[in-house]
Amino acid sequence: MIDVKNLHKSFGDKQVLCGIDEHIQKGEKVVIIGPSGSGKSTFLRCLNLMETPTDGEVIFEGKNITAASGAELNKIRQKMGMVFQHFNLFPHLTIQKNITLAPVKLGLMTQAEADEKARELLERVGLPEKAEQYPAQLSGGQKQRIAIVRSLAMNPDVMLFDEPTSALDPEMVREVLDFMKQLAREGMTMVVVTHEMGFAREVGSRVLFMDEGRIVEQNTPEEFFAHPKDARLQEFLSKVL
Ligand code: ADP
Ligand code: MG
Repeated sequence: MIDVKNLHKSFGDKQVLCGIDEHIQKGEKVVIIGPSGSGKSTFLRCLNLMETPTDGEVIFEGKNITAASGAELNKIRQKMGMVFQHFNLFPHLTIQKNITLAPVKLGLMTQAEADEKARELLERVGLPEKAEQYPAQLSGGQKQRIAIVRSLAMNPDVMLFDEPTSALDPEMVREVLDFMKQLAREGMTMVVVTHEMGFAREVGSRVLFMDEGRIVEQNTPEEFFAHPKDARLQEFLSKVL
């Protein structure tokens, strides 16, 4: 589904991604871990071209999106949902509007269709009564579930998550992870940057360790956690486990 070839990204003379090659298959749940500043967010943002790679290619569903024009790129991005640490909901719009805005504006659905879809999704995530409320009236965990639902309204083929639970109070982490697990079980292709090692173990089809702009090690969760090979990974795991 996603093919990354020799991906480089620099900001000024600072090299942040130093040649990443990676293949993500349909249905895979790829979990990315690594120290702060290792390039995890930049990597995710390069996958949907929120950041323009300095060099290399990202092929999505057979299309080289690094060469895509603006209009094509918008189409492609619709197929790649992204969820951030800080939710990024529109504060001045109701929950319902937050969910329906993009699909209607992009002409994917009529307002009536989008409203119906929003109702379905809110039902599914257990928040049907929130439709007419504003983001400020929701807890962090509810906001993040709405942010996920908002991405799902576009019927994406892959969901990218950048530390979706890092800004949440501990008691709210679970409800977000449970919803992500549900998506995983339903077969969604997912790329998840997280510090939740339990999630990585339980949900990951593969776990990648990034350090200094490279994927240093990757494996099945069982092998990855039981037999880490790289010294930096061993050290990282000894701090977080
Ligand atoms: P991570 O998500 O693993 O913590 P990031 O991808 O956010 O790492 O950042 C990797 C490095 O790139 C950091 O040193 C960060 O300061 C730098 N960086 C990220 N975005 C920018 C930007 N827009 N401009 C300049 N430097 C950036
Ligand atoms: Mg980050």
